Amino acid sequence: MSRIVIIGAGIVGLSVARAALKHGHQVTVLEQGPAPNPQSASFDLHRMIRYPYGSAEGYTRMVTDAFGAWDRLWNDLGTVHFENTGSIAISLAPGDYAEKTLNAFKAIGLPHEVLTREGVERLCPHLTLPEGAWGVVSFPGGPLFASRIVTELADWVRAHGGVIEHDCRVAGVDLEQGVATRADGSQVEGDLLLVAAGAWLPALMPERFGEASVYRQGLCYVEPPAQYEQSWREAPAIACLGDHTGYTLPDRRGAGLKIGYSAHRRAARPECDGFGSDLASESEAILGAFRPYFREFDAYRPTRIQVGYYVLDAARRFTVEQTGRGLVVTNCDGQMFKFGPLLGERILGMFAGEESAGDLARWAAGY
Ligand SMILES: Cc1cc2nc3c(=O)[nH]c(=O)nc-3n(C[C@H](O)[C@H](O)[C@H](O)COP(=O)(O)OP(=O)(O)OC[C@H]3O[C@@H](n4cnc5c(N)ncnc54)[C@H](O)[C@@H]3O)c2cc1C
Repeated sequence: MSRIVIIGAGIVGLSVARAALKHGHQVTVLEQGPAPNPQSASFDLHRMIRYPYGSAEGYTRMVTDAFGAWDRLWNDLGTVHFENTGSIAISLAPGDYAEKTLNAFKAIGLPHEVLTREGVERLCPHLTLPEGAWGVVSFPGGPLFASRIVTELADWVRAHGGVIEHDCRVAGVDLEQGVATRADGSQVEGDLLLVAAGAWLPALMPERFGEASVYRQGLCYVEPPAQYEQSWREAPAIACLGDHTGYTLPDRRGAGLKIGYSAHRRAARPECDGFGSDLASESEAILGAFRPYFREFDAYRPTRIQVGYYVLDAARRFTVEQTGRGLVVTNCDGQMFKFGPLLGERILGMFAGEESAGDLARWAAGY
């Protein structure tokens, strides 16, 4: 039995904790807030899992393995926190993300259906698309009910002997020796020290990660016009609408309809910039991008902005970096939730000697 110390009770830290307990190890999770922490990137009513990944064939393939890992988690939790609505990538211009996605699907033989503009509008009657638009639909895909998942995962970890120390900020780490130093100066040592601190990593390890690019992203919950409530609920999640427009998650299980606009992010730090939002201006910034594509646009009523932070670097590839006994997971971007349980299993596989840290890093980077 080895000692596994984990910093951060988001989807990554908790997934590693669960995998470690299943391998028979002793697990301690250190979390600066409540566990799970409503301010973590992993905490929102839903997060999307979907195949469309543009030209990134490695990540497209990884989604199949991610679904396998989710099935194993549902089995442990005794509940499925996912709805298979499918996902659609909508093309607005030649060479855009949806076209790259279609090429990747063809290259790796992933089942899909291509719809004309009329076909997309039949499936999504709430949309009005320009001449030449088309879509590609794939299954499975749709909302993962994130906050329920991390809440039950934390309960599972506790119920299976893991210790989660909440309101326990880690002030320093020695990766080489596998030692985490709590804010009160006490220390805990692991044979594996996993750092999964999300957007707070630069604050925790300023010498090594102080320059990492942290972004704040707001997502907008909306009430659609009454005549489109049902169609929004039944349609696939929109993975992309053109290159820069955004994505939507359907109102299933009471989670609400949520709209994201990828370009609506800015460099910011959670410990400095906080979690406040002005609903009127921020919903305008997010929803405004959809004005040409939503029927009855002016009848949409924004209800809430969900603010989250993540580390994103220019390469858009996850990073898993080993130093001595320490392993740092970063660059999780707006993308890691769907891969959390799979990454947890792979990290424990690496710790058990099934693959090298280098191979794990290459896999995580999507090669
Ligand atoms: C707005 C938004 C939309 C997204 N949409 C999607 C999506 O649709 N699909 C998808 O797959 N992914 C999506 N993501 C990305 C995904 O949510 C994140 O990549 C993932 O949740 C990261 O998990 P994590 O465990 O690494 O980090 P987090 O969930 O942020 O957890 C890190 C934890 O570490 C704790 N911590 C930090 N520092 C310390 C310290 N010093 N001591 C103790 N504890 C500490 C924090 O309190 C936090 O609880 C989105 C992210 C955001 C923000």
